[in-house]
Amino acid sequence: MSQENIIEVWNDVLKILEKNVAESTFTTWILPLEPQYFDETSFVLHTGQAIAGHLLRQNHYSAMADAVKQVLNKNLDVKIIFDEELAKKISKKSKAKAAQPESAESQTPQRPKYDSLTQMQSSNLNLKYKFENFVVGSNNKLAYVAAQTVAQKPGEKYNPLYIYGGPGLGKTHIMQAIGHYVIKNRPDLKVLFITAEDFVNDVVNALARGDEKTKNMNKFRKKYREVDVLLIDDIQLIAGKTRTEEEVFNTFNTLHGAGKQIVLTSDRTPKEIPSLSDRLISRFEWGLMADIQIPDIETRMAILSNLAKDSNIEVPSNIIEFLATVYSSNIRELEGAFNRVTAYASINEVPLTIENVKNIIGYSEKEKSYTFDGIVDSVASYYNISPKDIKGSSRSAKIAEARQVSIYLCRDLTKQSFPAIGDFFDKKHTTILYSYDKIKAELQTNNALAHTVTAITNQICK
Ligand code: ADP
Ligand code: MG
Repeated sequence: MSQENIIEVWNDVLKILEKNVAESTFTTWILPLEPQYFDETSFVLHTGQAIAGHLLRQNHYSAMADAVKQVLNKNLDVKIIFDEELAKKISKKSKAKAAQPESAESQTPQRPKYDSLTQMQSSNLNLKYKFENFVVGSNNKLAYVAAQTVAQKPGEKYNPLYIYGGPGLGKTHIMQAIGHYVIKNRPDLKVLFITAEDFVNDVVNALARGDEKTKNMNKFRKKYREVDVLLIDDIQLIAGKTRTEEEVFNTFNTLHGAGKQIVLTSDRTPKEIPSLSDRLISRFEWGLMADIQIPDIETRMAILSNLAKDSNIEVPSNIIEFLATVYSSNIRELEGAFNRVTAYASINEVPLTIENVKNIIGYSEKEKSYTFDGIVDSVASYYNISPKDIKGSSRSAKIAEARQVSIYLCRDLTKQSFPAIGDFFDKKHTTILYSYDKIKAELQTNNALAHTVTAITNQICK
């Protein structure tokens, strides 16, 4: 059986399943499955979500087996196998590998049912990331409202929309939600989502092919300049790559000039991206810059409650609260912990108690007991300066290094958010991020610094 055939078969199975299971189950658990093969006895699918197999077997096995039977006319055992590679791929790429049709209800009625399929496939969007499953809190309200405005009237108001904030806070989610909304409501418009990393690769590939360079560059330009809504994720990654910056600049001008919508995300403001050219900084600032901050505890709990509801799992509220307290600064980590906990508990049939949850997530009280003050004190005593110096603004080399090491350790040992560390040091979260990245990178090559950091860590953790 060729891979192509299995994909066709699976697409037919999906069309049946889409009618027979709840939309949330379909998009969250079934669409991300990857068909592998079938033989006389089994139909094999891979999943990158640890809990999907268990959940689907328990609640939707007969629907799946029936759908397979309708398509292949055989009674096959539907096997859903967890694939670690796929899990890594999903968490790394956050991208739909096999984009599938949207549900019937979400189509504009006058259009044929699967008309958006091509749109979906060429847009690179992940079906998980829609407005419907984005929880709005005070931390992301501005970005949410701006994203809705842009989705409803692409190209008319905030252009570009520039969304920035720390890792795992929903930037990619909200950006893709714009794409889904446009595809659903304006099927005549072309949407393209691309990570800056893939954009860079596209430029490099187009330039690399010797003789065909001009042809390839033309193809490249056509690809990006024919879209109505261009979504570039993690734009900070283009900084310092001259040819890519130039292509972004030209693409930006063409699209913006033609009234097409551009949406960008980044982990920091344009000005804070080191070595980004001035002309790009100014263009990125033309529209609206909206930041996403760390969600408060209620929003974190609401996100978990939604996840529990979508996966039909009963999770006691004290567990939701516990997880939301422990994972305070990154929703990706919060979701990851939730998935680990619920998967483990249901597979091993252990009750969801705080004690069990602590074991599953490897929670140690000790880790939580490091304080920013304690860390700064240890660093200060190692460098033989006062904690006040570290928290002050002196730029002397020694004090600046001690400050950056303190910031690095505050993050590394407490796992607290960059903004929280920023509050403590009275600095912007991007400054904190910069210091953290810098020390982290330097530790790879600078032995003396590595020695210092190890010595201080040993001191703190003894
Ligand atoms: P970023 O791009 O900022 O690093 P993502 O958009 O990839 O973060 O979000 C990380 C995870 O957290 C995703 O699974 C996303 O669906 C989820 N998430 C983030 N914010 C929200 C939210 N407000 N409501 C629901 N889920 C969210
Ligand atoms: Mg992202």
